[in-house]
Amino acid sequence: MKPLFPQSDIHARITALAQQISQDYKGKDLLLVGLLKGCTVFMSHLLVQLTLEKVEIDFMTVSSYKHGTKSSDFKFVQDLDSRVKDRDILIVEDIIDTGKTLAFTIEHLKTLGAKSIELAVFVNKTTNLAPDFASAVGQPKYVGFKYHDTPFIIGFGFDYNGYYRNLPEVYQMEEQDFIDK
Ligand code: 5GP
Repeated sequence: MKPLFPQSDIHARITALAQQISQDYKGKDLLLVGLLKGCTVFMSHLLVQLTLEKVEIDFMTVSSYKHGTKSSDFKFVQDLDSRVKDRDILIVEDIIDTGKTLAFTIEHLKTLGAKSIELAVFVNKTTNLAPDFASAVGQPKYVGFKYHDTPFIIGFGFDYNGYYRNLPEVYQMEEQDFIDK
């Protein structure tokens, strides 16, 4: 595997994002909505650096049928427990690829009556964003890194086949890294 984002850069970016989010949501009651399972490592590092008095977390698991292109192609494997109505929501996602998952999630949160919805994305992979989803997703307000290359990335929460999430930094996958269950 080839190193992409080193640990020191990752921690510096997350600290900067946490400061910005803490400023933007000062005095508010924030609900962080993490999309499992990819959000876990990024969200934990972000959460413990938020200096907000009122911040709650919740999680959703969204799954898409193979080439899903519309809302009906998605389903919730796990929905939120928390109240969404009239709340400030910050969706925490590991990576934007086509934007499908986020477009569907945003639509769902709007239906539930969220007061505001913003996105914190660890890696914004700007190469595959489908035009249909681009307008629904908009520009994420909080972005860790931009990634314009094609190799699949692993580590710091990013998996291949469920593995590699534990790696402390982000790597590009190479031929020898493809492992079976
Ligand atoms: P989207 O709905 O934006 O097409 O897909 C987002 C999801 O695809 C992410 O949450 C992530 O699970 C997966 N994904 C997209 N690109 C990569 C990648 O380079 N590495 C890993 N590990 N997952 C990716």
